[in-house]
Parts: sequence; structure tokens; C-alpha cells
Amino acid sequence: MTEESEDKHEFQAEVQQLLDIVINSLYTDKEIFVRELVSNAVDALEKLRHLKLTEKTVADPDLDLEINITTDETANTITIADYGTGMTREELIGNLGTIAHSGSKDFLNALSKSDQKETNIIGQFGVGFYSAFMVSDDVTVYTRSWNEDSEHLCWKSDGKTGYQIDTSSGERRGTKIVIQLKDEHEEFAKTARIKGILENYSNFVPFAILLDGERVNTVEAIWMKPKSDVSDEAYSEFYKFTAKAFDEPRYRMHFSADAPLMINSLLFVPGENPERPGFGQVEPGVSLYCNKVLIDSTPKSLLPDWLRFLKGVIDSEDLPLNISRESMQDSALVQKLNRLITKRFIKFLDREAKSDAEQFGSFYENFRSFLKEGVITDLENRDELLKLLRFESSVEEPGAFATLDDYVTRMKEDQDKIFYQVAPDRQTIESAPYVEAFKARGIEVLFLYDPIDEYLVGALPSYAEKQLVSIAQSGIELADINDEAQDVDADQASALCEWIKDALGDRVAEVNVSKRLVDSPAAALTPGGSMSPQMKQMMRQVDPEFSSGKEVHLEINPRHKLLKNLDSARTSQPEFAKLVAEQIADNALLAAGLLEEGRDMVSRVYEIMQQSLEK
Ligand code: ADP
Ligand code: MG
Repeated sequence: MTEESEDKHEFQAEVQQLLDIVINSLYTDKEIFVRELVSNAVDALEKLRHLKLTEKTVADPDLDLEINITTDETANTITIADYGTGMTREELIGNLGTIAHSGSKDFLNALSKSDQKETNIIGQFGVGFYSAFMVSDDVTVYTRSWNEDSEHLCWKSDGKTGYQIDTSSGERRGTKIVIQLKDEHEEFAKTARIKGILENYSNFVPFAILLDGERVNTVEAIWMKPKSDVSDEAYSEFYKFTAKAFDEPRYRMHFSADAPLMINSLLFVPGENPERPGFGQVEPGVSLYCNKVLIDSTPKSLLPDWLRFLKGVIDSEDLPLNISRESMQDSALVQKLNRLITKRFIKFLDREAKSDAEQFGSFYENFRSFLKEGVITDLENRDELLKLLRFESSVEEPGAFATLDDYVTRMKEDQDKIFYQVAPDRQTIESAPYVEAFKARGIEVLFLYDPIDEYLVGALPSYAEKQLVSIAQSGIELADINDEAQDVDADQASALCEWIKDALGDRVAEVNVSKRLVDSPAAALTPGGSMSPQMKQMMRQVDPEFSSGKEVHLEINPRHKLLKNLDSARTSQPEFAKLVAEQIADNALLAAGLLEEGRDMVSRVYEIMQQSLEK
């Protein structure tokens, strides 16, 4: 019953935008609203179950934790009621008038980044409570919060500009949502139609659902069942239910143990990377249960942070039922669960990689940054995680991958280092002067393309006792391969180096004769232990003043025709030779991604061209 005491509000701008899309889009899957409202009812019931353990009193303590759905064909309504937490006035305003929830935020985010039509992406998101307005322009929410002295309230909206909140009376604890259906959606006032929808989406709801008085779901904790009793469809449905997801899972790991702990767990790797571009960092998605009772749906310390992409359930009867979220962090038991399941999951991935390389490849393509984050942050599991990493390499075809173990078994007999290069892509590496010397000697180089790889190699001084070394580092000793090296007079070459150093002044720290260059005239290198060119580039992006020139070593290739000609030009036409030397240095810096200022270079190139044509 509502009483006269109107309290009018406008929707937050983002909510209006969302509602506009929800209402006006050609989104065909209107039935989604049932799933969204049931999912909210479940959340509210789960919270209440927890409150009953921690609070002395709650309103209407004897109400069953159940969901009642009623349809009325004559009035053309559907009503979804739960005896969960309910909402206070502030909560109504905060939860049903602003965008508080991450799914809707993700949706708006993706929408602003996407050039697809909104109708293509809306199906990938649950837009939560507001989905009710897909089928209605008259939604009423009756609610009473679990606090014993809470107000009886009625929220009402046409889903257009705003809503009003009136006081009400005679409400029971929880929330009752009455949806006056639009004429074209009268199907949702039919019992049979709703029954069909509930059978699809709500089998795993851990509370009784009654539709027009009849029980429709059997409460199932499928993670407690033996694997052989669960069908693929049931797993997939459970994933969608527990992860509130719309995609199919990529992997599932259903695992039980009696010792050292009682564990029943069911973990899923989602189809889509939840942190793909345009999306922020996600919350952990594996819930903690104790004997089928939810303890925490986003426990922070249950698994290491890098496993936050996992969805599912971990259930352990050994946990005390009333464990609080705060004490969970320190619980030795939770730490044990963490260690055990993490190891188990890494082993699972390793087996998958071996049994179906193609599927693992697709997983790796989408989720590798989490594994790399694990290598950097999770020292306890680093060695095992390293085995899962894959890289392109100088001896593999583009698109084929090598593991670190592949690399180590292919190492040359006298090779004691693992060589790599970090760059945005293969082309950048192959067109730069560094890799040629290694190729010429048949030494494999790993190609690392991800921004995070910089941190990865930084955190990882060695693998299998072999030091990891960037090929852009100066001072790498490589064996001579050709006799041409003897062609050059060593004294003459070092005189040339000295002259170039003079010509360049402070722009480089050293100029040396290179043993490694084959086809390139020169290369810019950074001494071992200093920042890589990529790191420096990143530094320059944050700090334009950042300068690193003093650290650069220039290596020249005296066997190269250009350097031979330069050597004679430095006496015959010293001014022109100096220009050329400067240009050689700039080209080398450019190839290394170390050129800080390109303006001088352009005018110098014009000058060189002009002088050449004059001859
Ligand atoms: P989400 O469920 O992802 O948070 P929704 O748009 O579905 O987003 O719901 C917004 C918020 O409204 C919920 O987080 C919850 O606080 C509140 N809410 C919605 N339905 C209920 C309900 N039946 N009982 C209590 N609170 C609810
Ligand atoms: Mg919701």
C-alpha cells in the first residue's frame, strides 16, 4: 500500500543513457530481464543468509529464503519477490538511480569504444535491474530493508526521466518487483513461458524458486557431484549462472580431494578475457563456499591476484561457517587452499597444453598477460608458470612458438645465455641491426612483443641457470664467423672509431668496432644492466625531459662499404664525412628506438643529398 508523500528523483545521466539504449535497441533477447532480476534476488538472499550469521536480529526472521514469481495474465503483470536484504531509501537512490554496478559500466565503456552497432554488443552484457524496462514502462519496487525499524517503501518509474519513492505499509522484509508489461510483451505474463526461461537460466539458483506457487528448480551444488554425473550442458549453464556470463567457458577444472583438505572445486576459464582492451581490472571471481553455503563471492586472498580471471566455486567443509571476510586473509586454511588449488590449476594448464596445443594456443593468445603477471609476482609458482610461456623466435616461422625449454634444448654447445629482444613486433626486430649476427651464427633469439615482457625479463635474471640477455645489449662476445673480419686493419679501424667519437661528441658514450654486425653499417647498443630501449621509450612518454644518450654505445662495422668510404672521406672531405658520421649514428639510434629528437636529422639528410648531387 502506498501513501501520499512523494519524493521525486531524476536518473543519473548515465542511467538515462543506458535506459535509452535498453528501451530503444532492437535487442531481441528480451527474456534476459528474468535472469537479471532473479540474479539480484539471489544476491539479496545470499547477503541475508550471511547477515543472519553475523547480526543479532533481522526483520521477519522466520521468512524462508526463497524467491516467489507470480504471473497474472488478466492484469498483464509479472512479479518477482524475494525475502532478501531489501533496500533502505538511500539504497534505493544509490542502487536504482545511479550506475553502481560494474556490468553496466563495462557496457557503456565498451559502447563508447566500439564502432559496432550497439545492438551487436548489448547481447554480451547483463544490464542488470534496468533490463526490466525492455518489457515495461511501469515498474514498481516494494521493499523493506532487513533492519527491524526500517521504512516500508515503494519505488516507481516509467524508465524515462526519473522515479519517485513513496512510503508504503505492510511490506515484508525483502524486495518485490511488479512489472506492468507492455502489450507486445504479454507473453511474459504466461506461466509456461516463464517456466521455460527459468529452466534455462535458474537451475543452479541455490534458493527455492516458486512460480505461481510451484517449485521450479532443484537446488544443485554441481561442484559436489562426481564428474560423471554432470553433463557438458550443465557445466556450461552453471558457468553462466555463477559468472553472470554470456559466453561459453574455455576450460573447466572440476576437482575434489579429501586430503590434506576436504575440497570440492569447479573452476572455469571464461571464453573472453575480462580485461581485454576497454575494460578495467576485474575482481576475483571464484566464490568460497563451506559445505554448499556461500561465504564470500569475491574473496581477495583465496587465490593469487594473477588468477583473478578464473570463475567458479571452491568449497571446503573444513572452513568455519562464520569465518569473516577480515579473518579470511589470515586463515592458515585459506592459505593452504590457495596454494593447493593454484598448483593444481597450473598443472591442469600444463596438461592441456600438451594434450591440445591448438586450444591452449588460443587460451594463451588471450590470457598470456595473466600468466606473465604470475611469473613476475608469484615467486612460489614461478618455475611452473615459466614452462607455460611461449615466444616467437628467430628460428621459428612467424606464428609458431617456442617454450623456454625448447630454447634450452636447442642451445649451441658453447652457449651459456638465453638471448631475447623486446620490440612491438617481429618486423621491428628483423629490420633492426641486432639479430643478424645471431642469425649468421645460428644462435636462436626469442622475440618478445608484449609491454609486460619488459618487466618479465627484468624480474627473471635466468632460466635453467642460463642468464637472459637482450641482444641490444653492448659487450656481447660472439665468435668470429668470417675471415673478412681479418680484412680490416685493427689500428685503422680503431682510428676510425676515435674519429667518429670525436665527431659525435657527447651524443654517444663509446664507439667500438663490432664483431657482430654482418649487413648493417652500425648499431646503437645499451650496456648490460641499463634500461632497454623500450623501457627508455616508456620513460620518455611519461617524462619528456628523460634523456639517456650518454649510455649509448655505437658499434660500427668496418667491413661495410659505407664505413670504408667514410674512412677515406674523413681526410679528403672532413666536413662532409662528419655529416655522414652523424647521420650513421642517428640511423642506428632510430633503429634502436633511441632517437630522441628527429628534427636535426631531417635537415641533415637534405644537406647530405644536396652535397652529393653537387659532386
Ligand atoms: P548488480 O546486480 O550487478 O549490482 P543491478 O542493476 O542488477 O546491478 O542492481 C543494482 C543494485 O540494486 C544491486 O547491486 C543491489 O544493490 C540493488 N538491488 C537490485 N535488486 C535487488 C533486490 N532484489 N534486493 C536488494 N537489492 C537489490
Ligand atoms: Mg544484478
